Amino acid sequence: MKATIAPCVGGFSLSVPSVVPYAAAMNISEKLQTRCVIVGGGPAGMMAGYLLAQAGVQVAVLEKHADFNRDFRGDTIHPSTLELMHELGLLDEFLKQPHQEVRELRGVVNGQVVPISDFTRLPTRCKFIAFMPQWDFLNFLSAHAKRFPTFQLHMETEVVDLLIENGRVIGVRAKTARGELEARSDLVIGADGRHSIVQARAGLERREFGVPIDVLWMRISKKQGDPEQSFGFFQHGKLLVLLDRGDYWQCGFVIPKGGFDEIKARGLPEFQNDIVSFAGFLRDRVAELDDWSKIKLLTVQINRLRDWCREGLLCIGDSAHAMSPAGGVGINLAIQDAVATANLLGEKLRNGPVSVDDLRKVQARREWPTRLIQGMQVFIHHWIVTGRASREKRSLPLVVRLLKWFPFLRQLPARFIGLGPRPEHFRSLRRDPVS
Ligand SMILES: Cc1cc2nc3c(=O)[nH]c(=O)nc-3n(C[C@H](O)[C@H](O)[C@H](O)COP(=O)(O)OP(=O)(O)OC[C@H]3O[C@@H](n4cnc5c(N)ncnc54)[C@H](O)[C@@H]3O)c2cc1C
Repeated sequence: MKATIAPCVGGFSLSVPSVVPYAAAMNISEKLQTRCVIVGGGPAGMMAGYLLAQAGVQVAVLEKHADFNRDFRGDTIHPSTLELMHELGLLDEFLKQPHQEVRELRGVVNGQVVPISDFTRLPTRCKFIAFMPQWDFLNFLSAHAKRFPTFQLHMETEVVDLLIENGRVIGVRAKTARGELEARSDLVIGADGRHSIVQARAGLERREFGVPIDVLWMRISKKQGDPEQSFGFFQHGKLLVLLDRGDYWQCGFVIPKGGFDEIKARGLPEFQNDIVSFAGFLRDRVAELDDWSKIKLLTVQINRLRDWCREGLLCIGDSAHAMSPAGGVGINLAIQDAVATANLLGEKLRNGPVSVDDLRKVQARREWPTRLIQGMQVFIHHWIVTGRASREKRSLPLVVRLLKWFPFLRQLPARFIGLGPRPEHFRSLRRDPVS
């Protein structure tokens, strides 16, 4: 079938067959040529897309879902990300979105409320974590990115394969609602999360770190008089996290890995009792969980690629290093990777392809913060959530008692969660958007 090339805004070109018979309407073959294709519109992909587009790089983000409204996303926007929003001139508008500002993280450990981290002394403009549903964050970012003529976002576009020529990645193949899309580019960025097809198809070697936990994910409605902010309840090796999502609580219940079948075998009433034993105020509505289909199992992984790149391809965020929810730091790390990518590659990519040595610089910059944080997550899993500290018969494990007795120690978890090691700052290659 003959194809016509239709120019798109910002110099992109998209080619579609000129005649589309009705029977073949679901199998249109579209072609897209751009400088950089980003696979995945999560925190890493959307931030990289925004920053590269702002730097004048033609960029297309391909996201498999039709919208950003998915339950199983973390809701934390860290002080380092808020600092970045300030550097981008977006902070004031961003903080107008509905959110909660949490200056001190407290947990309920074996029935006692204890302070865990204190963000008020961080060297950042915003000395708090903003809790905001992640779809609001991503919608905000995409709305602003779309103001750059160099930015494109393709929703409902699922990448299924890489295009490789003479050992170099030259683009991707994707499924769309209309048929197939072939997107060619000088660089493909894999930001497609922990089940990344990009890293799998690229044949990048991955190292797995054992994780002893999984998470059950469910909703329970909120009522007047409930606690005012998101909470973590720890109890002798078990953990329930409640995220405030306006009219309901998003609940994450940590269980031993592979333990869901046993929980199911014990029955729903027993499970409901477990939830109430953590958060008594949910007693009058825990029966909302009246079917196992309302309780989703999220498998938790920690892994890391040996090489984050090859010719024509770079992986960032969970695609390069899957993070556990422990510490609530994966989103921050994914965004920091995106900033480093734009800082290190933006200028060169605006003018042409980048070499594999350029791509390695991103890994070199971001690898040790990743190793450190993943090391901390492994420690938290083995010692605090499921390990010895959690099984101590005393009412509070030693590490928690230290945080309670010595307030200055709470600045350490605050730095770890709020900034992470080696926080990135956007180096301005700034172009003003077309309004
Ligand atoms: C249960 C759980 C709770 C968590 N809670 C928190 C928390 O509170 N705070 C925190 O900081 N971290 C949390 N994390 C970790 C955090 O979710 C990740 O580290 C973070 O989301 C990584 O961002 P990302 O952009 O790399 O990947 P993702 O957020 O996974 O985004 C990947 C995107 O790519 C898209 N995609 C996937 N495949 C394709 C494809 N083939 N084609 C096109 N698009 C594709 C996906 O739809 C998605 O939008 C949690 C993790 C888990 C498992």
